[in-house]
Amino acid sequence: MNILLLGSGGREHALAWKMAQSPLCDALYAAPGNPGIAQEATCVELDATDHGAVLAFCEDKRIGLVVIGPEAPLVDGLADSLREAGVPVFGPNKAAAQLEGSKGFTKDLCAKADIPTGRYVRVTSESAGLAALAEFGAPVVVKADGLAAGKGVTVAMTEAEAEMAVMEIFSGRFGEAGAEAVIEEYLEGEEASFFALTDGSTIVPFASAQDHKRVGDGDIGPNTGGMGAYSPAKVLTPELTAETMTRIIAPTVRALADEGMPYNGVLFLGIMLTSTGPKLIEYNCRFGDPECQVMMMRLQSDLVELLHACAENRLGSVAPPRFSDEPALTVVMAARGYPGTPEKGGAIKGIEGNENDHVKVFHAGTAIQDDTLVASGGRVLNVTGMGTSVSEAQGRAYAALDAIDFPTGFARRDIGWREVAREKS
Ligand code: ATP
Repeated sequence: MNILLLGSGGREHALAWKMAQSPLCDALYAAPGNPGIAQEATCVELDATDHGAVLAFCEDKRIGLVVIGPEAPLVDGLADSLREAGVPVFGPNKAAAQLEGSKGFTKDLCAKADIPTGRYVRVTSESAGLAALAEFGAPVVVKADGLAAGKGVTVAMTEAEAEMAVMEIFSGRFGEAGAEAVIEEYLEGEEASFFALTDGSTIVPFASAQDHKRVGDGDIGPNTGGMGAYSPAKVLTPELTAETMTRIIAPTVRALADEGMPYNGVLFLGIMLTSTGPKLIEYNCRFGDPECQVMMMRLQSDLVELLHACAENRLGSVAPPRFSDEPALTVVMAARGYPGTPEKGGAIKGIEGNENDHVKVFHAGTAIQDDTLVASGGRVLNVTGMGTSVSEAQGRAYAALDAIDFPTGFARRDIGWREVAREKS
């Protein structure tokens, strides 16, 4: 089967790497891809917002499966266009992608389906937002309704901070994404990510992970797209996983199907493990980045078989995903300046010599310039290790990272710290 993968990040490199290993994969194309993905796939220029161009490419190359990596094309309805044309696609239609595209939509769905999550109100003006804050007090969470690349969320410890966040949203800074806001109860606990595959009726658990959103060691500094992750997140015990499946994921999939918008693809949950059980923080409608990298490292099943079965609404007909018991841990090397303006063009050397059976380096924001690999984005490389423990995976990832020559890059030094501390105690 010929496959088209859309995206250009570390997540897509991990997906390409895994799909290329499948005997079901004949030709793998990636648009636009990156130099790491180019080692696994033929990279092509294709504008994902031009649905006609994507359809023409699929026809021309006899594509049997399209895998959409990032959220923007999903929220934009690319999966609808492909499905209408009869092209099997992994990823939800526009209506179901509102789970990620509109925080208010998700909160209303949770309310209707009695899914555990924080108390909330939706507001459409600054005055209504400020009035709602008075009701919640502090700490409180203020969120722009739409996609704002992680920048539209403020976890406010004081009322003054929350008021500023409301004013910022309605100042127009986030454009359409900030036409509405959600004011939400602050949830206390440890955060984890959980992933499940669904074709709209069958649901299979995939894997868990824990991300590190802040730019600095000790979880300080501004939020980023994610500075590192490990999988599995053991804090999500089998009991808590079962509770998450029955109380959060299953009712969500049912509610969406009941509303005529069946979900097809991967459901990515941000969960807070509170003293009263797991509560939903947010849904994303694609694999996490960098969570995908650690899950692909552990995945033993054929990824193409799984994604294709999902796309063809026959997920129940294939064996559920199997994973190595060994944990994997990835550390993001970012370009100096990230998450502000990253320094582009910095040379990167010495990746190849540092990869082995336990270590894989995924590319994110890289490019080839005058035959040299250089940084071309904020998050640049994902140095990923596996081991018999998170501590061992961490040691291997950092040993490889330290041997990579990327003078204009930086990384957190404490990825996996919670689990490493638990392993030591
Ligand atoms: P991203 O794109 O980074 O995933 P997002 O814009 O979709 O983020 P959320 O995931 O909803 O936003 O929130 C970002 C972070 O804010 C969460 O990972 C979590 O740490 C924190 N957060 C969100 N909601 C709450 C809450 N109700 N209580 C406590 N913390 C929260």
